Amino acid sequence: MKYKTTVGLEIHIELNTKSKMFCGCLNDSEEKQPNKNVCGVCLGHPGMLPVINEKAVEKVIKADLALGCDIATESFFERKNYFYPDLPKGYQISQYQAPLCREGFLELSGVGKKIRIERIHLEEDTGSLAHPDKANYSLINFNRSSVPLMELVTQPDLESATEAREFAKELQLILRYLDVSGANMEKGEMRVEVNISLRPENQKEFGTKVEIKNLNSIRSVEKSIEFEIKRQAEILEKGEKVVQETRGWHDAKEITFSQRSKEEAHDYRYFPEPDLPPLEIKADYLEEIKAHIPELPSQKRERFKKEYGLQEEIFIIKPKTGDFWEQTASELSEWIGSETGKAIKGEERKRVIDLVTNYSVELQGVIRSVLNMEMEDLILAEKFNITAEDFAEFIKMIYLGQISSKIAKMVLIEMVKTGQDPSDIIEANGWQMVSDEGEIEKAVAEVISANAKAAEDFKNGKQASFQFLLGQVMAKTHGKAKPELASQILKKQLS
Ligand SMILES: [Zn+2]
Repeated sequence: MKYKTTVGLEIHIELNTKSKMFCGCLNDSEEKQPNKNVCGVCLGHPGMLPVINEKAVEKVIKADLALGCDIATESFFERKNYFYPDLPKGYQISQYQAPLCREGFLELSGVGKKIRIERIHLEEDTGSLAHPDKANYSLINFNRSSVPLMELVTQPDLESATEAREFAKELQLILRYLDVSGANMEKGEMRVEVNISLRPENQKEFGTKVEIKNLNSIRSVEKSIEFEIKRQAEILEKGEKVVQETRGWHDAKEITFSQRSKEEAHDYRYFPEPDLPPLEIKADYLEEIKAHIPELPSQKRERFKKEYGLQEEIFIIKPKTGDFWEQTASELSEWIGSETGKAIKGEERKRVIDLVTNYSVELQGVIRSVLNMEMEDLILAEKFNITAEDFAEFIKMIYLGQISSKIAKMVLIEMVKTGQDPSDIIEANGWQMVSDEGEIEKAVAEVISANAKAAEDFKNGKQASFQFLLGQVMAKTHGKAKPELASQILKKQLS
């Protein structure tokens, strides 16, 4: 039988504010010393009063606006009561009845499908527990206690593992563009829970829902759904019933496993937090946040495609690298335009764009092999020392045939190592092109006499021999002979 898959996601995102949600403690996920960034408020001491972090509210609203949500004009925090060792207050401050946002959507790039978002709210994170191997105790760290957390719940609109993966990837990208969160799943900055059910294709009502937790990478989101689709289909195929339960994900074995079966529905006894004032979101406040929303990944994708015909996703998912690409392309177009006295267009422009794209990819590869770093990280660490102007000059040299591709590669490595201007590098290393006809004529004559057979073959109509001989001339001049000139002289001498 054929089955339909239904997937909904619940995603927790740690906001990258400087301080925590309700106190002034540092929000630092990199802190190695346990229980360092703590105070009476985030440790839940009785009588301590929380204060709302305005930046956290602003960041959630920023994300809400980017996701096309309806922002609540009035919202408030509530206490969600439960006991757990990592929650010393005995309740988590969250939002239930009045979330900051309802009814947004995210469009999956490439598919053109809109996934509806049911709600987004703001809450605080809990502390974290560690269970050392073979120890009969657990350790607790409150550095994460009360870190601002945004929770996003989708409608069950996703229908495959691929769609869920694309949703998580695009959301991650949006959050990074907005500077709302690092959204790094490996670091726990973005945590995804999957709700998945299967039903026969002709059945209207949803099948039994299974929840998957402990997913710490986008790959595990995709793999766990693929696994569940297979597992649940096999159960249904046998005429058995899927058990409603929470399952964990085993990353190495790539399987889900039962964690706990359906419990009584929790009654968290939500009630409005008496120590915090309600939030009133005013129109001018919203307008101000809206004015600071940068170009979003989908808009950039669209613009790059329209303006440059550029489809490479790498320049979207690595925004700083993409910015560098664009600066280079515009520097170069302007330059060539001003030198030739007319704007470049059509095929010629496409050639320039392709050169910038190819050499940008090459540049990323050189950075990886020389510095063992990603270009994006290098820029973010403010250690990238090549200007778009120098890079454009470098590509112009290739465009004008002033350097061969072999020399280009050498120049690029030097640029990465030293950050020097390409013309200085060429000058200092004596890599200028040889355009002295006498010198090339000499090299051509030597190549012809050393390869008499190939020269004979060419005269007898074998075109490939010409390319071979030209390659020999280039090798003899160490890649420095002007290719067009070398080709002309070779042709002349052969005839
Ligand atoms: Zn604190």
